[in-house]
Amino acid sequence: MIEFEIPKPIAQQRYLLTTVAEEMMRPHSRYFDEHEHEIPWDYINFMHQALQAVGAGSLAPSEEKKEIKKEEDGKRKKYPPIGYQSLAYLLETLSWGDVGMYLVTPGGGLGAAAVEATGTAEQKEKFLARFQQESPAFGAMAMTESQCGSDTSAIRTSAVLDLDTNEWVINGEKIFVTGGKMSLEDGDGLVVVWATIDPSAGRAGMRPFVIEAGTPGVKVTKLEHKMGIRASDTASIVLQDARVPFDNLLGSPEIPKKETKGFKGAMATFDATRPLVAATGIGVSRATLELLKELLSQQGVNIRYGIPRQKLTNVERDVIDMEIMLESAWLLVIKAVWMTDNRKPNSLEASMSKVRAGDVVTKITQKAVEIMGPLGYTRDHLLEKWFRDAKITDIYEGTGQINRLVVARNILDYRGSQLR
Ligand SMILES: Cc1cc2nc3c(=O)[nH]c(=O)nc-3n(C[C@H](O)[C@H](O)[C@H](O)COP(=O)(O)OP(=O)(O)OC[C@H]3O[C@@H](n4cnc5c(N)ncnc54)[C@H](O)[C@@H]3O)c2cc1C
Repeated sequence: MIEFEIPKPIAQQRYLLTTVAEEMMRPHSRYFDEHEHEIPWDYINFMHQALQAVGAGSLAPSEEKKEIKKEEDGKRKKYPPIGYQSLAYLLETLSWGDVGMYLVTPGGGLGAAAVEATGTAEQKEKFLARFQQESPAFGAMAMTESQCGSDTSAIRTSAVLDLDTNEWVINGEKIFVTGGKMSLEDGDGLVVVWATIDPSAGRAGMRPFVIEAGTPGVKVTKLEHKMGIRASDTASIVLQDARVPFDNLLGSPEIPKKETKGFKGAMATFDATRPLVAATGIGVSRATLELLKELLSQQGVNIRYGIPRQKLTNVERDVIDMEIMLESAWLLVIKAVWMTDNRKPNSLEASMSKVRAGDVVTKITQKAVEIMGPLGYTRDHLLEKWFRDAKITDIYEGTGQINRLVVARNILDYRGSQLR
């Protein structure tokens, strides 16, 4: 049964993170927005220490964190796991602080999530250990290529096994990799690169490979200048005869047959991470609504709840509608992460939550700028920044259109080839 009460450990974490968001993120939001590609090391170092102190070096929930067993009244009780639910609250709160800065939080990000979703127990132990070390490390996941974004079957980066050395030789170029530079150049991080081991097999030939910082033949060639989330780097990465050990292929060390797995690994990653991306959009939406109401209140406009809708002003109706959007989007996120925690298939719910959060954060931030007029448009307040930060929620980890397709396929029980 889904419970709507915030579990106690999550509530405590959330309280602490709200303080971090208020004191270490908000005051620096504008600076890092205006100084793209400068790294917020104070925040990073603080978060690294804090995460180590609570034993959460990696932001991806590990197997142990999924099982909660406690002694209570002399009995050993089993509690439902809350790793992903906890992450959703954590990411929502940090994104409420600043979504660009949240994206540089050490701990592995999407890279660690991909290792968690596709790696064997040994691989998880080996590759995620770096996030527990003394210095902060970062992780990223690289799927997109110049001809391959929504259509992942068009992937060209290749991995060929050198039978003499038992190493994979990887060649290709990845673009738009969130945190790609920090993962490869600013610590002992890693990037999970999707490559094909059989170009004729389409998606079935895709496999995730761990590329560790310092791997020869791997180079960051470009950093994007972006509209929003400017505290986070978005990199192009070229792999030229980059050699990695055989075991850096995440999953079974056997070379699987064409018809097996492949894209399923990517989908498992997305099912886990899409609701979390949605949670970041919810954080930005909540920040926007709170500031909007504060600014309106300063101008003598206070929302009158509990009176008939026809007696409300237009602005009051707008704000209440925005609050409804926010709450309903958050409930979809909570359902999707609850399903991940309880190991229930959640492709439908994961994509639904992402579609809804992408729409909601875009609409709420746009409406807030509209309602506040010039005050929303200038840099005196963060409303215009959040408007720019919002749109990415609807682009990465599958665009709104692609996630709508996933939702439709799940509801209609169609395969990818039947509805595209
Ligand atoms: C800031 C930023 C960070 C990113 N971070 C990462 C990252 O860390 N790792 C990574 O691998 N990628 C990342 N991406 C890439 C992102 O995931 C892709 O941009 C996205 O998947 C869309 O792919 P595309 O750009 O090739 O657009 P296209 O696939 O060319 O799509 C263009 C438009 O057409 C629409 N469209 C495409 N196919 C269909 C269809 N069948 N039906 C209806 N509409 C369709 C899309 O929704 C979109 O609106 C990032 C992108 C940005 C901007």
